[in-house]
Amino acid sequence: MEEQMRSVTVRVPAKVNVQLAVGGARPDGFHDLANVFLAVSLFDEVTVSPSDGLRVTCSGPDADQVPLDRTNLAARAAELLAARHGIAPDVHIHIAKDIPVAGGMAGGSADGAGALLACDALWGLNSSRAALLEICAELGSDVPFSLAGGAALGVGRGEQLTELPVGGTFHWVFAVADGGLSTPAVYREFDRLNEDVRVPEPAASQALLQALRTGDTTALAAALANDLQPAALSLRPSLAATLETGMEAGALAALVSGSGPTTAFLTKDEDAAQTVARALTASGTCRTARVTTSPAPGATVV
Ligand code: ATP
Repeated sequence: MEEQMRSVTVRVPAKVNVQLAVGGARPDGFHDLANVFLAVSLFDEVTVSPSDGLRVTCSGPDADQVPLDRTNLAARAAELLAARHGIAPDVHIHIAKDIPVAGGMAGGSADGAGALLACDALWGLNSSRAALLEICAELGSDVPFSLAGGAALGVGRGEQLTELPVGGTFHWVFAVADGGLSTPAVYREFDRLNEDVRVPEPAASQALLQALRTGDTTALAAALANDLQPAALSLRPSLAATLETGMEAGALAALVSGSGPTTAFLTKDEDAAQTVARALTASGTCRTARVTTSPAPGATVV
């Protein structure tokens, strides 16, 4: 039994924002959001095992871009959880990374949620869901959703979550761009572009929530919206060609995923997704294209 607890692995999904409504900058610099998250079947795996001190390692194609010090969200999650229980965060965290880094798919947040759940199991803490979600919110706006998975509406900075029902499976292609985009830089560009504009209060689209509830792909395609897209395109104009390539290959809708530069394409079925992925790869307008489905489950011990 003890031997079995020598390591714990948690699988945790990436997300796409099917709606990202952004309000004006608040006095604290944050923005109020209406953020509809959908978890997609692209996963990182976080494995924790006992160690003399806190140590982070990472494998996968983007591993060299992942910080291995205490700024890694997985390390911060372990430290926060340990501090709450008055124990030392003596753990080796290994991240098998498949989610693009700085791609607007909440990869770092996924690792934070994954490490939290894994350490909780390794250390036998049995924290309540509410206690884990509270630590997630402290780690970052997108982290609670990485723990929860499925679909959810996030308000506030995005961290106050309400689970949303989803009535079907949606098929997506993600075009992974070369290099990342810094989320704070994209918000700064949003502020610059909206300097003289009265930005409305962010609100969830009822048409979009209905499309998720009924599993209606065509209706979801019509309702997709990302207020950060103009800012991401302004910082990375080449993304316009990627979006166009996917639409020409038959996607029902295309949008920048979160703060980008990953772009997301909704297709009517798996075959259409494969066609769009092939066209994107052949076009040279992205580094790689990934076919996924949604909704995906949240952080899960495997
Ligand atoms: P979001 O969609 O939440 O805005 P993102 O997907 O654009 O995030 P991440 O992959 O989370 O971006 O990485 C953003 C930055 O966070 C990275 O450039 C890196 O410096 C830092 N970071 C901290 N922890 C991690 C981690 N575990 N994995 C990847 N990046 C991390």
